[in-house]
Amino acid sequence: MLGKIHSIESFGSADGPGVRYIVFLKGCKMRCKYCHNPDTWSQNGAEEQTAEQVLTKALRYKSYWGKNGGITVSGGEALLQIDFLIELFKLAKEKGVHTTLDTSGNPFTREGEYFEKFNELLKYTDLFLLDIKHIDDEAHKKLTGQSNKNILDLARYLSDKKKPVWIRHVLVPGITDKEEDLKKLHEFIESLDNVERVEVLPYHTLGIFKWKELGIPYSLEDVPTPTKEQVDKANEILETKKYLM
Ligand code: SF4
Repeated sequence: MLGKIHSIESFGSADGPGVRYIVFLKGCKMRCKYCHNPDTWSQNGAEEQTAEQVLTKALRYKSYWGKNGGITVSGGEALLQIDFLIELFKLAKEKGVHTTLDTSGNPFTREGEYFEKFNELLKYTDLFLLDIKHIDDEAHKKLTGQSNKNILDLARYLSDKKKPVWIRHVLVPGITDKEEDLKKLHEFIESLDNVERVEVLPYHTLGIFKWKELGIPYSLEDVPTPTKEQVDKANEILETKKYLM
């Protein structure tokens, strides 16, 4: 089983607890208007490595991980390569490594073989970082090209399974920062039993150059990054501080 890898970050600190070895996989079916990694959408040009190869390289950094760190797999959308993920996380758990999956949840379904595989993956995944891009399904479709129904269902399923989750929400002025939507998102998060942290990620424009390089029109050109006040307000509505105590 070969993983299709976009890139590696040896000392990540933003995607999960502690210092982490982050593996970015290639492939994503969402088309988020603010995506800062559109170069991960296609699986073309991926570097292919086995789970053993990835883990061997990651373990060279083990001494930096301390008590909390470990491996995070991100993307693109890592759940599109669920077989590789199962192999990698299973091997990692055999070595006592903390495993985190950073996902948009888009491939999740409770049907068929995929669901069986997902349940297998759950056994070896310590923490999920789940992005909820928009709580309103129609607005979610406009923003990402895909429905949020199965993503919210994934959040519910992980709650039922008591699997630790950090919920993340990218704050885009005029698109994902409406008070009414943030309140609905808060209500949804409050209905879950497994949320350890809620993070507001301010929209940034650092990835726009990649859209230009790929020749894809960027539709949020006129959207500003959020002000501190807008970020503070979102943090307040989502009660993010509550989870840090
Ligand atoms: S899910 Fe992530 S990788 Fe995929 S389009 Fe959205 S932001 Fe980009």
